[in-house]
Amino acid sequence: METTLVLIKPGGVARNLIGEITRRIEARDLQVAALVLMKADRAIVEEHYGEHREKPFFADVVDYLCSGPVVAMAVTGTNAVKAIRTMMGATNPIEATPGTIRGDFALTIDDNLTHSSSDPEAAARELALWFPEGTVR
Ligand code: GDP
Repeated sequence: METTLVLIKPGGVARNLIGEITRRIEARDLQVAALVLMKADRAIVEEHYGEHREKPFFADVVDYLCSGPVVAMAVTGTNAVKAIRTMMGATNPIEATPGTIRGDFALTIDDNLTHSSSDPEAAARELALWFPEGTVR
């Protein structure tokens, strides 16, 4: 069993996709282990995207994640990290396969609706950042 972090970014919340994205996760037989709707703290977002600090798009992605409410979710299940990454689709939605969340609902990389942890190590780091108090189940 693994636990991974999913963020529904401000664009996904604004487009009323919280239910659709959560429905797909649960339909896959993955379990929501913690869930919160929040205005993200800037320091947490900067830490979250720390690996991109030197990239030209760093300020834009941080600004974007802080621009409105986000949903942070811990998701548990067998191979949850890879399963969720595959369900979300390619980072650039124009390359995302139909049937994935990005392939079905997004068009541009700057509004690709979700974040999900890239591997188990990233998941552990990100879960500690967003859910320092731990998960509910
Ligand atoms: P992810 O793990 O699929 O979310 O992708 P990355 O960790 O590589 O990038 C983090 C986020 O930064 C992505 O979800 C995009 O929103 C954004 N991003 C990545 N690459 C680019 C880029 O080349 N241009 C822009 N504008 N945003 C990018």
